[in-house]
Amino acid sequence: MSLRPVKQIIEATPTLEGAGVKLRRAFGFGKTQEFDPFLLFDDFRNERPEDFLKGFPWHPHRGIETITYVLKGTVNHGDSLGNKGALGAGDVQWMTAGSGILHQEMPKGDAEGRMHGFQLWANLPADQKMIDPRYQDIKSADIPEVIDDDGTTVRVVTGEFWGKKGPVDGVAANPSYLDVYVPPGVRKTLPVDTYRTAFAYVFEGSGDFRGASAPFGALTERVGDNGATVAEETVRDTAGNRSLVLFDTGDEVTVQAGPEGVRFLLVSGKPISEPVAWYGPIVMNTQAQLREAYDELQRGTFIKHR
Ligand code: MN
Repeated sequence: MSLRPVKQIIEATPTLEGAGVKLRRAFGFGKTQEFDPFLLFDDFRNERPEDFLKGFPWHPHRGIETITYVLKGTVNHGDSLGNKGALGAGDVQWMTAGSGILHQEMPKGDAEGRMHGFQLWANLPADQKMIDPRYQDIKSADIPEVIDDDGTTVRVVTGEFWGKKGPVDGVAANPSYLDVYVPPGVRKTLPVDTYRTAFAYVFEGSGDFRGASAPFGALTERVGDNGATVAEETVRDTAGNRSLVLFDTGDEVTVQAGPEGVRFLLVSGKPISEPVAWYGPIVMNTQAQLREAYDELQRGTFIKHR
């Protein structure tokens, strides 16, 4: 077994999206190689209705999948195929946009005016970018939960974990999407397939994901661009609320939970390794395909599947 070292810890940045929703973005619209097959990760946790009620009115998607996980409040959803529904606390929507949909996503707070949720974008490989759109709406009760002896609790949204299989299927990047809670003070090691891009996103408490091998503040050595060895100080050890931990290769990750325990999403997927041409909510392989998509939007021929 080999432990995945931490490559990077990223604080999610305040971002304005949709018609004026205040959210935090951990990655997106930047380097796509680092996170391949994933494109974007947004944390829309908000306590003030005026910061999210404007929502995400009608917009297109093509060439990707969007995964929405709601923790508090509701997201009302409607699309060009005539689908309509509401995602409540604990529910997941896995949308394969494929050749294209037009939809709107409108968050509504709970009784206390809180809205908590996450949206992840996963890329589709070239040969699946134009497949028919598909939705998988999963109710909270249908997401299996596994509890270990030490109290570690894992909700398995997709993929297989500790013998449980998540309810989402047929997804291109075959990702694993887990909601993990590790109780205060517990050190937990979790398996992750070796050939996958993997990250953790902490949303409650804090944890140290570096393993015992690199104590806080230690100097670690790496080979610099010119071939020389340079010493670098390990900047920080603990990943707190709203931080994303990007892992290097290996077949397991470890976390030492802080005094309040730690809850995080553990997401992994097989890299697609294809060219990315991306503008707004449409992600293709070439600029020509992107232009075609936006031309079709203007001409009203964007929707291929009704
Ligand atoms: Mn959308």
